[in-house]
Amino acid sequence: MKKIVLLGPPGSGKGTQAELLSVKENFIHLATGDLLRNEISNKTELGKKVKSYIEKGLLVPDGMIVDFILDYIRKNDLYKKNVVFDGFPRRNFQAEKLEEELSKNGSGIDKAILIDVDENTIIERLSTRLICSGCKKIYPGNYEDDECFVCHNKLIKRTDDNIDVIKNRIKVYKEETTELLDFYEKKGKLVRIDGNDKPERIFEKIKEVVL
Ligand code: AMP
Repeated sequence: MKKIVLLGPPGSGKGTQAELLSVKENFIHLATGDLLRNEISNKTELGKKVKSYIEKGLLVPDGMIVDFILDYIRKNDLYKKNVVFDGFPRRNFQAEKLEEELSKNGSGIDKAILIDVDENTIIERLSTRLICSGCKKIYPGNYEDDECFVCHNKLIKRTDDNIDVIKNRIKVYKEETTELLDFYEKKGKLVRIDGNDKPERIFEKIKEVVL
């Protein structure tokens, strides 16, 4: 069973690629941002704590996110399943805790795939994209309908997809998340893929690495 981490700046297409792995290759898509946004919509204790971080484009404190995700892994018994991690880990501490947890149950991260995209493309993508309010599928800004073709719920803009927060998220990525590239490189697990390409082509490259 495979465990894949997708790395890359916000808007690099991690969510889209993780969804393709889930639909076409039977991976469980663990999307940290979606899980946290659900907590916010459901007004849970965690949701109330993380809301202001997400709205500002800041990372949620490590302790909170690590407990939440490791708990999710245990509850859903993800050890013996194919999993694609999208949005977790985002710092070395989180990556270490993830390795520790998976190794307790005889598994570990197989590959960390960096989807590399230039900054102007990211800003353009994030400031125009929409997501489905139901199933969270991501739609590019030029999509012509206003509802999801899968579940027919309304398409909406993420509250953190506005230009000031986008810039902050990119800054946070550069300052805090790029340390993960070294972490996985040292373990011989890092693979870099050019993300300035069509989603279907990127998916083909990911499959070559993963399958
Ligand atoms: P995403 O949907 O992956 O872009 O995540 C949206 C927001 O959720 C981020 O900007 C952070 O505020 C928070 N978040 C998601 N994953 C993590 C993580 N692994 N560590 C800390 N904060 C996170």
